[in-house]
Amino acid sequence: MFVRGSTAGRSPGRVSAGPPAPVATPPAPEISGSSRPTSAASTFDTAPIVGIDEALRLDAATDDDGMARAAQARAHEAAAEVLADRGDWRKAYQHLRAAMALVHLGDTPPVRVPEQLRREVDRLRRERAEAREQSRRDSLTATWNRRYLDERLSTLRDEGHDAVCVALADVDHFKQVNDTYGHAVGDTVLRTLVGLMRAGVDDVVPDGFCARYGGEEFALVLPGSSDTDAVAVCEAVRARIEEHDWSALAPELRITVSVGLGCVDCGGTRAEGPGLLDDVDELLYVAKRTGRNAVAYRDSTGEVRLAGPAAGRRGVPGVARAVAGTARSGR
Ligand code: GH3
Ligand code: MG
Ligand code: MG
Repeated sequence: MFVRGSTAGRSPGRVSAGPPAPVATPPAPEISGSSRPTSAASTFDTAPIVGIDEALRLDAATDDDGMARAAQARAHEAAAEVLADRGDWRKAYQHLRAAMALVHLGDTPPVRVPEQLRREVDRLRRERAEAREQSRRDSLTATWNRRYLDERLSTLRDEGHDAVCVALADVDHFKQVNDTYGHAVGDTVLRTLVGLMRAGVDDVVPDGFCARYGGEEFALVLPGSSDTDAVAVCEAVRARIEEHDWSALAPELRITVSVGLGCVDCGGTRAEGPGLLDDVDELLYVAKRTGRNAVAYRDSTGEVRLAGPAAGRRGVPGVARAVAGTARSGR
């Protein structure tokens, strides 16, 4: 067992997903009388999209409120028609939603949405989901990026985790790899490393994942892992990287990583910023300064230890005292 890091006692100002944001309702468009805007280049049937007149049964609408609502809804409908005609499906959809909302204020039959608009809206939704996924991926390695990491750390509590084991793994002497073999080889090393880390985390820990923290540093998030299991998982990842045959990239190439492993309070919020991983960062530096190629963690008494074959290295407590409170901030 290892004790929680310095963030463990923080107030659990959790961030919850909350209800979805409502669809923005565009302002009612300017209209003069009841005339509809016309479009010069029509790309599809420009028959009324919603059929407001029919839906509101305007002939029967006698009260002023009903007439005003009908005029507003008709204006939104006309705007949707013109925008859809121009291919601006997103705005068209917003106006259509506004028109439908006005229609549904009254006791009216459901409005008809043309199939083409439905299909376009589905396409926009798919594109939006794809763009969201891409914005959370690292472009070099295709693993998750820092944005995704921050989001998941702030929502893990909602997924039932009070605290979660997180490791930071930093490639040892990576600058030398670039300097000796070139940046392209360095890039390939990073991509290969992600494959090795994912095989040791994603395939072993349910809901576990690897994210690029920045440069040649990666975060390994191990939800639901006991402290003992987390040490074993990280030590196995470290050994897997050390033992990997890198000769296909360069005959003499050898790659190792140093790892700091700690426990992060899921009640921490993004507002607390970099402090969330400060203790893990300190442990990473103990691993670096005691010889690299090792996993550093705290045991149940708070003592810093190294896992696996590095456990016998000397001077760990002294180094741990020296780096205490010196974690980088604002990275
Ligand atoms: P240490 O063992 O202390 O971590 O030494 P280091 O050389 O790994 O650390 P340092 O911070 O001195 O250098 C990190 C290097 O990582 C420098 C930077 O050019 C390289 N790097 C960061 N991102 C990338 C990348 O996307 N591709 C490549 N090829 N190199 C990268
Ligand atoms: Mg680094
Ligand atoms: Mg490094």
